[in-house]
Amino acid sequence: MKLTDSVQYIKGVGPKKKAELNKLGIATVYDLLTYFPRTYEDQSVLTRIADLHAGEVATVSGTIVNLHEQSGRRGLSILTAFLNDGTGMLQVTWFNQKYLKNKLKIGRRVFVSGKPTYAYGGQGAFAMSQLHYFQVLDKGEQPEGLCGILPVYPANERLNQKFFRTLLQEVLKEDLELPEMIPESICRAYHLLGRREALQAVHFPENGEELKKARYRLAFSELYLIQCGLLLLKKQSQETSLGIRFQPNGELVQKVYKSLPFTLTHDQQQTWQEICRDMERPVTMRRLVQGDVGSGKTVIAMLALVKAVENGWQGAMMAPTEILASQHYENLSAKLTPFGTRVGFLSGHLTPKQRREMYEAIAAHEVDIVIGTHALIQKDVHFARLGLVITDEQHRFGIAQRAELEKKGCHVPDVLVMTATPIPRTMTLTVYGDLDVSLIKQQPPGRQPIRTFVRRPDRRELIYNYVRSQIEAGRQAYVVCPLIEMNEESDLPSAEEVYDELRWGIFRGIPCGLVHGRLPAAEKERVMQEFYENKIKLLVSTTVIEVGVNVPNASIMVIEHAERFGLAQLHQLRGRIGRGPYASYCILVSEGKTENARERLKIMAETNDGFKLAEEDLRLRGPGQFFGSLQHGLPDLKIARVPEDIDILLAAHKAAEATLRSKGDLDFIRPALMLQYKEKFAHIMET
Ligand code: ADP
Ligand code: MG
Repeated sequence: MKLTDSVQYIKGVGPKKKAELNKLGIATVYDLLTYFPRTYEDQSVLTRIADLHAGEVATVSGTIVNLHEQSGRRGLSILTAFLNDGTGMLQVTWFNQKYLKNKLKIGRRVFVSGKPTYAYGGQGAFAMSQLHYFQVLDKGEQPEGLCGILPVYPANERLNQKFFRTLLQEVLKEDLELPEMIPESICRAYHLLGRREALQAVHFPENGEELKKARYRLAFSELYLIQCGLLLLKKQSQETSLGIRFQPNGELVQKVYKSLPFTLTHDQQQTWQEICRDMERPVTMRRLVQGDVGSGKTVIAMLALVKAVENGWQGAMMAPTEILASQHYENLSAKLTPFGTRVGFLSGHLTPKQRREMYEAIAAHEVDIVIGTHALIQKDVHFARLGLVITDEQHRFGIAQRAELEKKGCHVPDVLVMTATPIPRTMTLTVYGDLDVSLIKQQPPGRQPIRTFVRRPDRRELIYNYVRSQIEAGRQAYVVCPLIEMNEESDLPSAEEVYDELRWGIFRGIPCGLVHGRLPAAEKERVMQEFYENKIKLLVSTTVIEVGVNVPNASIMVIEHAERFGLAQLHQLRGRIGRGPYASYCILVSEGKTENARERLKIMAETNDGFKLAEEDLRLRGPGQFFGSLQHGLPDLKIARVPEDIDILLAAHKAAEATLRSKGDLDFIRPALMLQYKEKFAHIMET
């Protein structure tokens, strides 16, 4: 049996099961083998019946003291046994397993494992059906030992645990073609289990030690392959002769640079120099600029775009939201049009005619810089001479999308990625393993630090009166309401409610606006535009304002239900204020019901350092939530967990570096890379 064979070829999989498996993304034998257990049940520990808890999986051993057989509707056979272990009675039910009649006899000893429920009207206090495992001992037979650790799969009503266990046992029995995909030198150096052993053991481990080794090996190979892919990508773009060699800065760049109303900070200057150096080399630039909100990344992006234009190339800048894209567009076109640079805008919300015209202008090189949303990577967009691609807040885009944009030019355009998410260094390896990193740590001078307060909801009137006084002094304010990702529906009214409450209450007579993700794009834009132009003074919003909105006159922000946000997110939100010369205030409104919530908000009040907050967030909320947004950029990981497996990641990264130095090893892994990450790394494979 081959890994690429359809699951249909496995014993026990008919068309129906096949369809169900496909729904879970399992099409091939390989998919099934890498459908890893969610967790494991340790069956080697017995629970006394008296100690069972409803809903908690347990293994019990008892003697059959009573038996029932019933036939239900449509010939359904129901076997019920009552087990006694001296501490209590458990009722166990089997459906449609007539063959068990010969085995289940009063007086026999049985081991069962499953989730107990309360038994109604039965003889025992608890009942079990849909057993995860059972074993009936014949008279005089010794227990062969419990089966130890059992895998628990992400299952559903149609495909249950037992189905998966049987199926995987079936597949692992087969004579599978499972070629080793990690070079021998690496396997040896990192003491890795063989691939076959690891797969066997991850599904059916003999003991905890073996499971650990198997998991290590599988997580390692997963991360290793990704690292190899990323490093290859980098190497390839460095070696390609298609990279553009931009000239040293000329008149246009210098004029724009001089027109800036401020001098660049030291970090900005350094980043700019790094970018110039990259762009002037004949290899393709792949650089990540990481800088806290408000640290001034956009200016750097603009200079890089101008440099591309000066050299006769086009530049593209992609932003994750319509609002942000149009803000960048306005900002850049206002600054650059006076120098004769033609800036265009492209988004999904243009009319078909506008869009067609923009496509034509791009193809005819009638625009120099195009700013837009995902619309920039549509099939119909053809650049005449694309020389530089900038993606803002890259973590919102997948690697594949980025690659899509890069493919638009005949030459390989330089790539600059901007992110405000402070990602621990180790993490940049997985997400951005193929990029060089520039850091902008300082904030521009003259910024008033943002003062942050945590207040209870019963102080809202006071808070909002203060906001009103700030508005009367000429400032603008944000009020942010949480939008729960899981259930946007239920939260929508809360932004609306707050909006109504405020504009008819304390803020009567003051122009207020409301934005949230459900508004039609045109309406959202109108409101943002008016806030931008200082026509709207108070903006009630959901997190749609999180990314990049820049209104320097806004100096106060109230965040309702602040405990619902992660620290990193609060920090992003807070970054919307303190962008001008005014003293700025952020007020976190929260009941602070839990210790954890209080602690998190306290940290917010104490520090403005994005990196520190990111680390704290990681510590307090756990990686799942923190990295939720980053996962978009990560290839789907089947077994490795980031950042828990950070050590494995670092080892895998090192191993990948070694592999890249060895031609033999590199050729060895190519088929595996091809098989697993065909789409992601397709353009490496073509060479
Ligand atoms: P980011 O994109 O990193 O969040 P922006 O580029 O939007 O930050 O910059 C935030 C604000 O700071 C903008 O109003 C910008 O004009 C201003 N700014 C950027 N660099 C400097 C600097 N060196 N000195 C003063 N102000 C700056
Ligand atoms: Mg920005």
